[in-house]
Amino acid sequence: MYYSTHLVAGATAGFVAKDPVEGFVLGVVTHIVLDMIPHHDHESVVNCFLDIAAGTAVFLFAVIFFRPDLRILWGALGGVLPDIEIPLHHFGLLSRRLFPSHTGCLPHLRTTRGRGLVVQCLVIILGLWILI
Ligand SMILES: [Zn+2]
Repeated sequence: MYYSTHLVAGATAGFVAKDPVEGFVLGVVTHIVLDMIPHHDHESVVNCFLDIAAGTAVFLFAVIFFRPDLRILWGALGGVLPDIEIPLHHFGLLSRRLFPSHTGCLPHLRTTRGRGLVVQCLVIILGLWILI
């Protein structure tokens, strides 16, 4: 899944949590669930960095001005944090991936770019609908 999709899903999980710790844990759980849904991942580093930069900027703006809530911030962090190991592994800073949906312990299902984009847009729209 794209960074922004994990970010919104984690933030939504944080929104329904009772405290920031539960928000973080639920955010991580959304990461596992979303990785199991057939999706499309970025094929270029440039697109990945654009996703991270734009997603973070829009997210922080929206949270700071509309929903300043630590549960949402920690949920979002839990949603995106597992993917930090992907660039670390890619650039040789981590010898192997550890997160279950990245190691093959849990399925990490893929589909075409078109279908993957539709799935991710639906997740983001549903998350924003709950958050706003
Ligand atoms: Zn992942």
